[in-house]
Amino acid sequence: AKERGKAGFVRYADGMREPVLAHMQLGGELRRALENDEFRVVYQPIVRLDDGRLIGVEALVRWHHPVRGVVGPAEFIPAAERTGLIVPLGRFVLRETCGQASAWLAEFGPEALAEAGLNVSARQLHDPDFVAEVTAALTDSGLPCERLVLEVTESAVLRGQQVSRALHELDRMGIRLALDDFGTGESSLSLLRAFPAAIIKLDKSFVDGIEIDDGGPVTPDARQAVARAVIQLAGALGLATVAEGIESAEQVAVLRELGYTVGQGYFLGEPMTADGVSRLLAVQRKA
Ligand code: C2E
Ligand code: CA
Ligand code: CA
Ligand code: CA
Repeated sequence: AKERGKAGFVRYADGMREPVLAHMQLGGELRRALENDEFRVVYQPIVRLDDGRLIGVEALVRWHHPVRGVVGPAEFIPAAERTGLIVPLGRFVLRETCGQASAWLAEFGPEALAEAGLNVSARQLHDPDFVAEVTAALTDSGLPCERLVLEVTESAVLRGQQVSRALHELDRMGIRLALDDFGTGESSLSLLRAFPAAIIKLDKSFVDGIEIDDGGPVTPDARQAVARAVIQLAGALGLATVAEGIESAEQVAVLRELGYTVGQGYFLGEPMTADGVSRLLAVQRKA
């Protein structure tokens, strides 16, 4: 099993999708890992595109496996969803993120970091205790509601009454909801009418190649069409935007031209430990 693990679990940056271990086995491993405290949260900067100032972070979970090293979420989130382990795992990420954000707020003040976001899967939204758990995490950490962003995907939102009720309740509490991977689902537009979103996250697939003018049949203008449509839509509906997966200065330039003011991506900052974020905030305070 060791060898298979070694060959199968690649660095998370490689974006491998296929869990190598059998699902059952992985489910058991995840349960053990939760008990053994093997999960960690890293934070990716969300920054202003004009001056690079940090305005928020997105929490991303990692599995520090004793043998395989750091395993990325693409490798285990699907199995965690299937087995239901995403509920306790998600609770851990929620508590960790709220605690950390509250600590940053106390140390660096209300201007330093506007918000902390985390990913919530459909399975969690279905859990009748979810809203109460979010409330408890906020109360216990002392993090104000308006500092928390919950990122949900379109497919998660389209799961009926129970999910819809939970989302509206969270919205009424003053927690902001972000539509993640926007544009990749099938009903992005109709969804926005029913869903109390505050933020749209433009999916990385619409940022990839947005800057390229290779003289080929696909013009930069065509590549930019979705990004342009999304920013117009957001403007019309009064929603904030975050452009995801920005990997170059050229992409920043094009996105700014289109009207985007906030972004996320390796070019702007890779996922880092909480200490890494603290160091950034300390540097920013001096500047
Ligand atoms: P996501 O929510 O779309 O998160 C963004 C992913 O893109 C992250 O991958 C991040 O590291 C990666 N990324 C950011 N900037 C760039 C870039 O410039 N280039 C490239 N190629 N990638 C970039 P990560 O951390 O591997 O997470 C993958 C997915 O796993 C997330 O996609 C999210 O759907 C899920 N996930 C991560 N943490 C959690 C969690 O705590 N709970 C749940 N339910 N899902 C999670
Ligand atoms: Ca996300
Ligand atoms: Ca995303
Ligand atoms: Ca994604």
